[in-house]
Amino acid sequence: MSVLSSPVIGQALQARGKQRRSPIWIPYGLMAIPLVAYFVFLIFRGDGQYRPLIDGWLVAGFEVVASALCIARGLAWRRGRAVALVLGAGLLSWSLGDIVLTVESLGGATPATPSLADAFYLGFYPLTYVAVGLFMRGDSRRLTTSSWLDGAVAGLGAAALCAAFAFPSILHSAGGSALAVATNLAYPVGDVLLLGLVVGGTAVLAGRRKAPWMLMAAGIGLNVVGDTFNLFQSSIGASRLGSIVNGVAWPTAILLMSMAVWLRPRPANPLAPQRPTGFVLPGVGAAVALAVLLAAALLRVDLVAVGLATATLVVVGIRLALSARGMRILTEERRYQSVTDELTGLGNRRHLFHMLDAFFGDQADSQMPERRLAFLFIDLNHFKEINDSYGHPAGDELLRSVAGKLSGCMRDSNALVRLGGDEFAVVMLDADAESATKVAQRIAASLEEPFVLDTVSARLGVSIGIALVPTDATDSAGLLMCADVAMYRAKFGDRSVALYDQDVDGDANRMGLVEELRVAVNEGHFVLHYQPLLDLHSGEVLAVEALLRWPHPRLGLLAPLKFLPLAEDAGLMKALTALVLNQALDQCAAWWAAGRQMSVSVNISATNLLDTGFVDLVRDLLDQYRLPADALVLEITETSIIADFEQSQRVIQQLRDLGLVVSIDDFGAGFTSLAHLSGLAVGELKLDRSFITSLVAGGQERDLELIRGTIRLGHSLGLRIVAEGIEDADTLSLLSDLGCDLAQGYFIGTPKAAAEFAFQPKIASPPAGALAG
Ligand code: C2E
Ligand code: CA
Ligand code: CA
Repeated sequence: MSVLSSPVIGQALQARGKQRRSPIWIPYGLMAIPLVAYFVFLIFRGDGQYRPLIDGWLVAGFEVVASALCIARGLAWRRGRAVALVLGAGLLSWSLGDIVLTVESLGGATPATPSLADAFYLGFYPLTYVAVGLFMRGDSRRLTTSSWLDGAVAGLGAAALCAAFAFPSILHSAGGSALAVATNLAYPVGDVLLLGLVVGGTAVLAGRRKAPWMLMAAGIGLNVVGDTFNLFQSSIGASRLGSIVNGVAWPTAILLMSMAVWLRPRPANPLAPQRPTGFVLPGVGAAVALAVLLAAALLRVDLVAVGLATATLVVVGIRLALSARGMRILTEERRYQSVTDELTGLGNRRHLFHMLDAFFGDQADSQMPERRLAFLFIDLNHFKEINDSYGHPAGDELLRSVAGKLSGCMRDSNALVRLGGDEFAVVMLDADAESATKVAQRIAASLEEPFVLDTVSARLGVSIGIALVPTDATDSAGLLMCADVAMYRAKFGDRSVALYDQDVDGDANRMGLVEELRVAVNEGHFVLHYQPLLDLHSGEVLAVEALLRWPHPRLGLLAPLKFLPLAEDAGLMKALTALVLNQALDQCAAWWAAGRQMSVSVNISATNLLDTGFVDLVRDLLDQYRLPADALVLEITETSIIADFEQSQRVIQQLRDLGLVVSIDDFGAGFTSLAHLSGLAVGELKLDRSFITSLVAGGQERDLELIRGTIRLGHSLGLRIVAEGIEDADTLSLLSDLGCDLAQGYFIGTPKAAAEFAFQPKIASPPAGALAG
């Protein structure tokens, strides 16, 4: 009874109740009634006399029904069928043993040892081992060696305890034929194994499929209790308590096991963290084993129990050794991970600081000789754009191949680390400015070459700042800062490598630059240069492109690519574009007022396309300067369009509705097909400079064909074709022959301030063929 109201079953039934309540619990509920009645009967019957009808037939009948329910479960559901059928067969075997024993005891006869009943009883063990094994199989695949060892410790400990109690009694009562001894031994051995298996399994399966397993384990445990009491009864002598426990334990055990197969485990939560095997059961197992050995030293303890206890402690030893080893591996792995960049496998920022701190630690030691060190701060130039346009997997791939190229540029004695993002660093021990610069230049040259990613090829640039010890810095943080500042100077000046220079870089740093940029945007401290576009049909310059310049007090006139990424990062792009549009349209209005009906092209970035107020701003400015919409051309790069195609498409349509021309800039630098862009309301295509430069230089037939095809297709889509980057007369005439509409480049005119702008194209008359198109 106490078993029936135990929390295990309560929990099991509750879990079950949350799912679909099955009618199967009705017969089980009904079966509890005779069980309780029998229990009460056992307590109150005075004589303790065996009554064949109640103690024999009724109990056996009860057990047969419970076994049948278990088998029925196997026939009813497919999942877990094997467990239910095998366990059902085991329970039935046991019940049949009870029936045979009842028959054999008819008329007060004492059955022989061994009897047919023993054969049925013992049949229960192998079948139940198999059932328990099958039950555990599903979970066991996911278990670690440590879990198994924990299970072994718990199971062996339980077996040792069970053996310590059961074996002396059985030997006590042993006697008679060899077969009789073997039969009598088979029970405690079977129980020891079963208990070991169940306790071990409970330790191993800690937390998994709780309710059904616990019910099964409780049933098996109760059975072992019944067996042990039975042994005491027959060896040491019958007691009242013994016969009560003995009488009720077996039918209850069978009932619990039978119920266990009907319980459906609550689905495990795969998101919950995996719980390690608990320490309680293995701990108790180890303690019990110790206690058994201790008892063996003082009392007479059976050898089987001593053997099992010893085995338990051996497994404990193995388990500890394994834990220690696992711990060591884990520690090493943690250490490795903590200093390694996961993406590239290079050292990370922490690793760098370990190295530098060790170096500066030695430097501080007056016993040590003074050493030199060069530090290279490497920053990729167009990584953000590539990452944004082609996606993060491509960006990751690129970083990995950059890491590969960088490794190829240095000697083993140099250390290469990735600081994070697109920043890398090199530490060169005993290097001076000259050797550091050499390595930096080698790196820059190797990163100039295009990278071939999975499907695309991309061109990066690099900015490298170099700082030296002891000249520039005497600690890690200072060294990093100096190199960082030098790197920014490289980026803003038109170079890939810069050495830290106290005089120039003294107080400059990136944060300072961002601040300066913010101030410049607020106060409008920018100038526009204008580059002419030559109309190849008329030979006239009727359009210019506005190109932004930042006159920096210290660094000079900065080109847009040097500070636009910074503006983008600092969220200044919206304000900056408004500034450019204002200034460009102001200038344009001045030209119109002077009778020159020029159009001006303004570059806009991806950020502007995402800004909801952008179209309104353009409309308002055109109104403000009283300019027709076709006086403005907006250039958007192919890569910023594909960054968010749908949004770009919408905004481009709205701009076109205003009446202005939208141009796709740097076409061909990305990898979008023209067909893809035909869904956009654009009016102009600017062929990327890289196309044009390769044209005459290599004279490659394929490039020529590509341009010819692009122009033809562009024209058929109604687009105006502009060629930019024209640096000589041959290229100009070639493009004119190919049918380009407009030409731009240093050969025609460099970008200049409006005041310096003379409306005289460099060619007084367009080249031959230019008018023919
Ligand atoms: P872009 O739109 O492709 O501008 C053309 C760039 O090529 C300009 O560089 C120009 O000076 C340069 N260039 C012109 N002709 C030649 C030539 O014959 N040979 C060579 N090698 N180069 C030539 P710049 O002014 O440094 O501008 C670079 C980029 O900065 C521009 O490329 C444009 O994408 C961006 N940009 C410039 N101004 C602005 C602006 O106001 N806003 C935005 N969002 N971007 C701008
Ligand atoms: Ca442009
Ligand atoms: Ca361009």
